Amino acid sequence: MLRSRRRPIRTCLGCGQTRPKLDMVRIVRSPEGEVVVDTSRGAKRNGRGAYVDPRSECIAALRASRRLSRELEVEIPEAVYDELSSIAAQRGATPSR
Ligand SMILES: [Zn+2]
Repeated sequence: MLRSRRRPIRTCLGCGQTRPKLDMVRIVRSPEGEVVVDTSRGAKRNGRGAYVDPRSECIAALRASRRLSRELEVEIPEAVYDELSSIAAQRGATPSR
């Protein structure tokens, strides 16, 4: 029997689109209530996670909507958004068209 290839898909909290998980950035709330951007790829941190596209539009939307705060059920420090923005800036270094 053929098995369809499984590609984990997650929803971006910024734009609401679904995308391959590997293309996204994970934000984790640790059991201690600390919110961190999980840049470890693969080596998973424990805790409740949320995903966002590493795109400045998505980060801006996320910041404005406070969806992340609701999703992780904790206040999100500004530093987390700043870190996401800098990740987006790095990844967005590819020239568009
Ligand atoms: Zn998005």
